[in-house]
Amino acid sequence: MYNITLIQGDGIGPEVTNSAKAVIEATGLEVCWDIVNAGIHIYEKEGVVVPDSVFDSIEKNKVVLKGPITTPIGKGFRSVNVMLRKKYNLFSNVRPVKTIPGTKSPFKNIDLVIFRENTEGLYIGIEKQTSENSAESIKLVTRDASIRIVKSAFEYAKNNNKEKVTVVHKANILKISDGLFLDCAREVSEEYPNIELEEMIVDNMCMQLVLNPNQFEVIVTTNLYGDILSDLCAGLVGGLGLVPGANIGDNMAIFEAVHGSAPDIAGKNLANPTALILSSAMMLNHLGEREKANKIINSVFETIQKGKYITKDLGGSSTTIEMTNAIIEKI
Ligand code: NAD
Repeated sequence: MYNITLIQGDGIGPEVTNSAKAVIEATGLEVCWDIVNAGIHIYEKEGVVVPDSVFDSIEKNKVVLKGPITTPIGKGFRSVNVMLRKKYNLFSNVRPVKTIPGTKSPFKNIDLVIFRENTEGLYIGIEKQTSENSAESIKLVTRDASIRIVKSAFEYAKNNNKEKVTVVHKANILKISDGLFLDCAREVSEEYPNIELEEMIVDNMCMQLVLNPNQFEVIVTTNLYGDILSDLCAGLVGGLGLVPGANIGDNMAIFEAVHGSAPDIAGKNLANPTALILSSAMMLNHLGEREKANKIINSVFETIQKGKYITKDLGGSSTTIEMTNAIIEKI
């Protein structure tokens, strides 16, 4: 029996977390779910954005499946998502981007993984208004955090027979901060003589990705570039509804999709549940439940390839629930 914290989130969060939970249960995995929530709705009810029950549950269970949480734009509370990653030192944001046969995309056989530094960069949120017409924000890069994210990427490459890790930076302009990140990547790469370190400036990286994404296997980068490249890569394989993710620390992990709360389709039974279902498969792999994880992945792939029960974003007309049921049927 596994004890897992489930954060439903808001927007499409409750819909996709319900799907993922049902799919996990269909594999026969025995789970005691601790269902908690955070965000604006909780603030309106309880006066806090993240109640203590959320922290208590995460600290007890150490494994979390999480729906997206809306962050107000330009005002209001800071991102709950970023806060949790920082608070629990979930330094490695791992986002596998893989072509699923049957999806619409001009590209075939994309198979890459983004390793995004998850605890610093511009996301430390230190900004100030310096005058009526100017504002500053601080981008933090430390040696420790840079070394550990690059190591995660190289370890993944080594364990999965990948030949190349691409480090993405802007050290031509940000010579000190991105320069430090790049130096750390060069240093770590020396421990892996059989894996090539490719260096790429972030603007060129964007162009290379849309011209020929198949040239990349493992990408490692700082927080903001990793965030942007993740959405770009999601677009290359058919959209945000398809790309899963994991926030991994030394002894804790939160599994969540790359996508946000999608307010434009929330509550309409239109969301594609694939991204969170595949995040669940990552969680099962993390728990050592490989067979059940593969069952989920194969069922998702088969459902999409058949194309009968797929959501609107994939060119189909099924609802979230219909697509989820089709996946469960295959399991
Ligand atoms: P978004 O990812 O929510 O949506 C972008 C577009 O992709 C929308 O058109 C949406 O309908 C579509 N989309 C996203 N997920 C989909 C799915 N599963 N199925 C079908 N279509 C899907 O990005 P946004 O609109 O920029 O952000 C909305 C909110 O989500 C913001 O408040 C943002 O801060 C938050 N956000 C949260 C997380 C998180 O919780 N980890 C991540 C990203 C954004």
